[in-house]
Amino acid sequence: MLPQDQVMKEALKCSGCGFCLSACPVYRVLGVETLSSRGRMDTIRGMLLGELKLTPRMEEILSTCLMCQACEAACPPGASAHKVLLEARHRAVKDKGLPWAKRLAFRRLLKDRRALGRALGLVRKIQGSTSGSDSFNLRHLPTLFSGLSGGRALPALAPRPLRERFAQRVPPSQGVAHRGRVGLFSGCYMEFVDTPMGDAAIRVLTREGFEVLYPREQVCCGAPALYSGDLEDTVEIALRNARAFAQEELDAVLVMCATCFSGLREGYEIVARHLEGEERTLVESLSRKVQDLSAFLASRGLARKLLLPEPMSVTYHDPCHHVRGQRISREPRELLLSIGNLTLKEMAEPARCCGGGGSFSLANAELSVEIGRWKVKDILATGAQAVVTSCPGCVLQIQEVASREKARFQVLHLVEVLDRAEMEEGGVSRS
Ligand code: SF4
Ligand code: SF4
Repeated sequence: MLPQDQVMKEALKCSGCGFCLSACPVYRVLGVETLSSRGRMDTIRGMLLGELKLTPRMEEILSTCLMCQACEAACPPGASAHKVLLEARHRAVKDKGLPWAKRLAFRRLLKDRRALGRALGLVRKIQGSTSGSDSFNLRHLPTLFSGLSGGRALPALAPRPLRERFAQRVPPSQGVAHRGRVGLFSGCYMEFVDTPMGDAAIRVLTREGFEVLYPREQVCCGAPALYSGDLEDTVEIALRNARAFAQEELDAVLVMCATCFSGLREGYEIVARHLEGEERTLVESLSRKVQDLSAFLASRGLARKLLLPEPMSVTYHDPCHHVRGQRISREPRELLLSIGNLTLKEMAEPARCCGGGGSFSLANAELSVEIGRWKVKDILATGAQAVVTSCPGCVLQIQEVASREKARFQVLHLVEVLDRAEMEEGGVSRS
């Protein structure tokens, strides 16, 4: 993904100081040196130099990283563990190929939303007949097919996917000044499971005066393939999404999932480097246009003064791919603080990883829950009624760990809070 000398340069930045150890959630739980950033850098240097072979132990070292980048924030020379890890995973795929289930998921289902919907329905039926459970433990839906689901149940699918609930083009609400046209990237979870979250996003945007374009041709963002080291399929997926959103002039393409956002922004920058001509321009253009929904609304300013029907105290959890990946942390708080009847109570470490990490939580279920327990303790210590975040993956992880811990607080996506807030009497409408 990166030229060999650049990856090696990155890996050689590590001086072995160990400042990253206490920042790494995996190391903090397991205390195993090889599973810290320092240990992984050391191993991958050996791999790049051809001194170490790809053994099962090596595969474990590559797969037990959350890509949370907490080590990078603590690293004096700024060594980028996640970039080095991505390259190592890519090489592992080139050497050994993908397991058949991942191959099926990445080559067929991630590129075709109809096929993914049919396959999810089928798996759901099989699971329903064997477990009878409605639990919702799956982070990135396509990982179900990766052989990593660890026997976990498929979340209840929505009766109809999001695309069947809305027209491709939704105009701004009546009586509201028109403020522009945006594209909506739904992500697989909002498309097939939590469609009310998608409804909320469309309501919030149209009430704010935006016309929303929801291209039917969009597919999965490709993050599951990218973070598994499968560059070839990520390239094809990126091109499909780039073409889907290139059909009309858009102010921005808005994303509500921190992992999708990271895939579409940083991942597609990587993809573009492997393309030429018109294809490269298309993918670069989408990568530049994607914005987190909260960052977009904060930069444009809310058209209306919002007020919750009842007083509510909340705390905010920063998704790793926002706070460290894209430096987004001020914007969601600005939006929350602008809502009447809402009190924001900061937790001790809002940027601490919740332990979700997409397929990490399926392949390393107990470790993932153990990391999530810190987050739940932090939230409980604030006494807030709800924790708010900007990633459906974090919502799921925190919900699950909180329910195991019998913790009683609501877990909400930011867009759900905005949707609950009504216009305050005398609120202004921006023209
Ligand atoms: S903090 Fe950075 S330089 Fe120090 S051991 Fe960790 S990765 Fe290496
Ligand atoms: S990215 Fe996160 S999990 Fe991976 S080594 Fe760094 S701190 Fe640890």
